[in-house]
Amino acid sequence: MSTVNKTAHSFDKTRFEALLNRRFFYAPAFEIYGGVAGLYDYGPPGSALQANIIAEWRKHFIVEEHMLELDTTIMTPAPVFETSGHVARFADWMVKDTKTGDVLRADHLVKNVLEARLASDKEARGLAAQPPKEDEKDKKKKKKNVKAAPLQLADEIVEKYERILAKLDDYTGPELGDLCRKHALKNPDTGNEVTEPVQFNLMFASSIGPTGQHPGFLRPETAQGHFLNFSRLLEYNNGRVPFASAQIGRSFRNEISPRAGLLRVREFTMAEIEHFVDPADKSHAHFNDVRHVVLSLLDRHTQSAGRTEVRKMSVGEAVDTGVVANQTLGYFLARIYMFLLKIGINPERLRFRQHMANEMAHYATDCWDAEIQNSYGWTECVGCADRAAYDLSVHSAKTGHPLVVRQALKEPIVVEKEVPEFNKKNLGKKFLKDAAVVQQIIGDMDETQLLAVKAQLSQGSATIASSESEQRTFELTPDLLTIERKTLKQSVREFVPNVIEPSFGLGRILYALLEHSFWCREQDVERGVLSLPPLVAPTKVLIVPLSAKEEFDPLVAEVSTKLRRAGVFSRVDDSNTSIGKRYSRNDELGTPFGVTLDFASVANRTMTLRERDTLTQLIGDIDEVIKVVIELVEGSITWADACQRLPAYDGVQAID
Ligand code: AMP
Repeated sequence: MSTVNKTAHSFDKTRFEALLNRRFFYAPAFEIYGGVAGLYDYGPPGSALQANIIAEWRKHFIVEEHMLELDTTIMTPAPVFETSGHVARFADWMVKDTKTGDVLRADHLVKNVLEARLASDKEARGLAAQPPKEDEKDKKKKKKNVKAAPLQLADEIVEKYERILAKLDDYTGPELGDLCRKHALKNPDTGNEVTEPVQFNLMFASSIGPTGQHPGFLRPETAQGHFLNFSRLLEYNNGRVPFASAQIGRSFRNEISPRAGLLRVREFTMAEIEHFVDPADKSHAHFNDVRHVVLSLLDRHTQSAGRTEVRKMSVGEAVDTGVVANQTLGYFLARIYMFLLKIGINPERLRFRQHMANEMAHYATDCWDAEIQNSYGWTECVGCADRAAYDLSVHSAKTGHPLVVRQALKEPIVVEKEVPEFNKKNLGKKFLKDAAVVQQIIGDMDETQLLAVKAQLSQGSATIASSESEQRTFELTPDLLTIERKTLKQSVREFVPNVIEPSFGLGRILYALLEHSFWCREQDVERGVLSLPPLVAPTKVLIVPLSAKEEFDPLVAEVSTKLRRAGVFSRVDDSNTSIGKRYSRNDELGTPFGVTLDFASVANRTMTLRERDTLTQLIGDIDEVIKVVIELVEGSITWADACQRLPAYDGVQAID
């Protein structure tokens, strides 16, 4: 929209944070009680910005891709997360300061200390060093310590540190402990040694009902709600895959020591998609529409080699050459990219990073994070994983509820397989109520296991074992069970679909967008500007009457009603300050357009229109200006188009 060079002014974090705080984009929750780390409240502009991002997300994904929307509960009974693996594995590694007991996330400790050493090395070598990222709390703590003189490192140490940082996400807990010992990494706040890393589960535990007998958790992601409703969703979609469900809702994670503002919080809004697809066919019907989209990719091989350079590649090439595992995953990476650009993320500061082997969940086949660069570094804002059949399989096995697709085959297929047959009367007599357990064990066996039992039966008897924690064994004889090879005709194919999951953290995206949008005018460095695209800006149009005189009231009411009726969110600023001040206050809120009503407006029904980034102004008949504004806000015309439609305003309005 603008020709202004916003990047010419370097990012001033202090001014940026002051703006967000002053204009109440967001603030620490429970502030007057002292606040709680990792909990934030959004004020009016922050809430409106988030609502607009969500509205665009719904349009871009749910509406355009015909997704099935869900709203499932946050409170979740414990067995669900026992089955999904969250109780055992949804954890981060933490270390404790051996003297103060302060708790730190092990990977964050390694990152912060190594980055600080590298920065100090750069300073010692006389290279411009970026000071390591730190928040106000860190700064206050450090003030107590005298600043150490910069320390130059040996070249091979610098290389080693860089390699460690490039693959930091791939280290296991014990490996992080090894790094702390090997490189003498201590708590940077105190200089004390730290303990060996231990796992800390990130879920908030609760209990359901008055007796406390039903443990539950606040969900750490919305995904399980999709999986548990799979059969209903499938039926809703006429029994066919592929289809996707989508949900926007709150999630909770008891982060170990959240310090990075909105980037690491304990309660946040997620927008998640679960795309269910045939494992034998992960092509995507609309892949050709996005094949040309070029992404910055940081693949796992580059990271494992200790490097971080990205490759620009079209999604088509990435899938064709196997860099991205399949078309559906590639399709979503492109759609995520397009969404982020649409809401105003700077493409130069966006990359897709592939997970390395240890980092990826054991069942996942490929996973990429959309990372957005900001003053804290590169931050994962969207995860996009191919989770294979894991989730549906484990819930199905636990509950006995089949979470499968049954597909009628055009041509029946003939298969030969081992078929177990029980003599139910004899089985009941011998095992009584355990007869069902025996049938279940045999029913769960694959071909190889059945053949082994068959071989044992041919020798007289076979022993099978249950999979319960207290394993029981049962002896079977040929009068109870026979296993025969049979030729069967199948006219239905049954399979567990695979899941491709794009998962968005809206707070992180919102924060990165605010950073990318922020700049200061040369002539007014005190007040910043947020160049938010009209699509997501909290307020689209500021209506500025020259003064609060009553004669302006009918026109203000008319313009405001006409804009509101067209669905354009506007605000009137009739405060007692100069028009310039009123505009600059709204530049801080990211309001892209302003219209001014003055005496000429009353006399000739004209109105001026101002654009936030270029400060250029146009003039025209009130109704024509309103029309242009509506089109600008809808995104159907650009400011350059508007300049063709309306004459430039030179600062003087003639009164006829
Ligand atoms: P994950 O399930 O860990 O891949 O997280 C999915 C998305 O949720 C991430 O891409 C982030 O955008 C967001 N997210 C995860 N943890 C947090 C957090 N503590 N604070 C804010 N956003 C988060």
